[in-house]
Amino acid sequence: MRVMAVVKSDAYGHGLLRSAAVFYEEGVRAFGVAEVEEGALLREAGLAGEIIVLLGVTPEVVADVIHYRLQPVVYDKEILADLSARAVKMNDVVGVHLKVDVGMGRFGVMPEDVSSLVEAIQSLPGIYLSGVMSHFPLADAPFSGKTVEQTELFSNIVARIGKLTGTVKVSHIANSAALMQNVATHFDMVRPGITLFGCYPGRVIAEHAGLDLKPAMSFKTRVLQVKEVPADCGISYGHTFVTARPSRLAVLPVGYNNGYLRKLSGRAAVLLGGQRASVCGTICMNVCLVDVTELPGVRPGDEAVLMGRQGGEEITADELAGWLDTINYEVLCLIGNLNRRVYI
Ligand SMILES: *Cc1c(COP(=O)(O)O)cnc(C)c1O
Repeated sequence: MRVMAVVKSDAYGHGLLRSAAVFYEEGVRAFGVAEVEEGALLREAGLAGEIIVLLGVTPEVVADVIHYRLQPVVYDKEILADLSARAVKMNDVVGVHLKVDVGMGRFGVMPEDVSSLVEAIQSLPGIYLSGVMSHFPLADAPFSGKTVEQTELFSNIVARIGKLTGTVKVSHIANSAALMQNVATHFDMVRPGITLFGCYPGRVIAEHAGLDLKPAMSFKTRVLQVKEVPADCGISYGHTFVTARPSRLAVLPVGYNNGYLRKLSGRAAVLLGGQRASVCGTICMNVCLVDVTELPGVRPGDEAVLMGRQGGEEITADELAGWLDTINYEVLCLIGNLNRRVYI
C-alpha cells in the first residue's frame, strides 16, 4: 500500500516544506499538491519522490511541470497536446494521472469519455499514463451506498483502462475518510490529508475510527494586559458586550488578522491557567478580550491557548469549527496560514 501525502494549501496550514520533509523521512514517496507552484517549491527545496499536481495544469506552466518532474492530473485533451509538445521539445517524458469523475460532480473526465482520453495519451509522444484516480464526494458520510457504487464504478474503469494499456501503474481514490472506513477503496495508493495532521475528516468518523489521533497544530499567544473594569462597562467596538459585574479582562494580541474571525466574538473560549474563559466583545483586527473575572491568577505574559491543550483542557479545531459554522479543514488553513509557525 502506497501513501500519497496530500500537502496542498501549505500542508493544511502546517507549512509545505517542513511537513513534506517529515513525511519523506517517515517513508512517504508521493506527494499531492494543488498547484504547479507548490510542486516547484518542493523540488527547489530538494524533495525527491513523485509529486502529483491535483488541480492539473494550465498552458502557462506546462514547461515548469516538465522542468520540475511533476505529474499533473489531466482531464481534457487540449492540455495533453501541450504537455506532449513541450516534453518532446525538452527531450523529456511526462507522466500524467487521469482523473475520472465517478460522482464528485467537479472536475475530471466523465466515465464515457475515458477511453478516448486514454487513446489520446497513448498516441502522443513524450507523455504516458502514470496513474488513474478519482475522488469521493460523500466518503465522510459513513456507510453511504453512493461511496460503494462509486468504488465499483472506479474499479470497473481501472479494469477497462488496463485492457486498453496493458497495465495501470497506480490507481487511487481514497481520501482520509475513505481510508479510515473502507478497505475496498484503498486500491494501490491512498491519499490522506487531514489525518496526517492529527485531525479527523468528520465527527462520525472520529467516533468509529478506533484511532487516537493527536493534532499537530496548536495556536497560542501571551496575555498583553489584564485590567479591572466596573459593572455596566461597554467592551470593544460597538459595545456588543456590557459587563454585568465588576470584571477582569485579559487582552490578547490576536484578532481576525490572525484568522481568529469576528464571527467568534461572544462564542469562543480560550484556555488560561488550564481553565476555559470566554471571549467577550467584538474581536478586533489584532486584539480580542477574554473575561477572566473567575481566574484571579491570570497575569500579563501568561500563555493563552486559542487552540490546543493546556493543563487538562483542550480546544480542538473541531470546536473552533463549530463556533465558526465550518469544518476543521478551514480552521487549520486559516490559523496555520495566517500566523508565525514554530516547530517543536
Ligand atoms: C484534499 C484532497 C485529498 C485529501 O483529503 P483529506 O480529506 O484531507 O484526507 C485527497 N485527494 C484529493 C484529490 C484532494 O483534493
